[in-house]
Amino acid sequence: MTDLHGLTALVTGATAGIGRAVARKLADAGAEVIAHGRDPHRGAELVDEITGRGGRARFVTADLTDAGEVARLAETAGEVDILVNNAGIYALTSTPDTSAESFDRHFAINTRAPFLLVSALAPAMAKRGHGVVVNITSTAATSAAPIGTAYGASKAAVELLTRSWATEFGAAGVRVNAVAPGPVRTAGTEFLRGDSVDTLGRMNIRGRVGEPEEIAEIVLFLVDDRSSYMNGAVMLANGGERSSMVA
Ligand code: NAP
Repeated sequence: MTDLHGLTALVTGATAGIGRAVARKLADAGAEVIAHGRDPHRGAELVDEITGRGGRARFVTADLTDAGEVARLAETAGEVDILVNNAGIYALTSTPDTSAESFDRHFAINTRAPFLLVSALAPAMAKRGHGVVVNITSTAATSAAPIGTAYGASKAAVELLTRSWATEFGAAGVRVNAVAPGPVRTAGTEFLRGDSVDTLGRMNIRGRVGEPEEIAEIVLFLVDDRSSYMNGAVMLANGGERSSMVA
């Protein structure tokens, strides 16, 4: 069983969806969780839930579109043993329908914020000789699609960063891996029109969307010593591809 007592974990985007499930799971395993988000009400709710179950958590707010706020988040977090770069946005627009502002927003939140957090926090992990970073990417990072191209590009960059950081910090004892989910039922995907997240779910071989807890379980494995030989890996969690041979 994973035991994270004595370790501190910063989880970005912990106020909803996958991040919330990750924060809960790490806290249940004993980590002190620094839960990040923007919404103070959902942040307080999460902290209450974790502390009510005997865990330890505090909430830090920061808008990740602002590099200064990302720096403040890293400073407020202090020494962390585990960093989960989860916060993200995904507008499933076509290329002509994606404004420069939307493109920049995707890269600021999905790519630059993880870059700045790793830049601020990984050197101290390396100095202490241990640390784990898990990046939440997406199957959109590797699958060509006619929509969500800025999103896919922002996540593809994080997959390369994952492998690069594994190389940059790995010798000093810091492991960096990623989880690439397929469609998962969250507050964010509820905004997709109609039942499109379920439609996407039906396209994989399991025939359903994933649940946030199923992604959190993989994160738990990646922060644990059970995955000690994994560094620079991207774990796909998409229900399995449907072969063209299957009707
Ligand atoms: P979600 O339900 O939409 O929640 C997004 C989280 O990110 C919230 O906690 C939100 O905070 C935070 N966030 C958004 N914009 C922010 C900003 N400007 N500054 C700070 N925080 C911000 O997301 P999700 O569906 O759980 O997705 C989580 C991650 O998994 C994302 O990186 C996403 O790309 C990836 N992913 C999701 C799916 C899926 O189907 N759900 C599939 C593949 C990959 P507040 O609510 O407090 O503002």
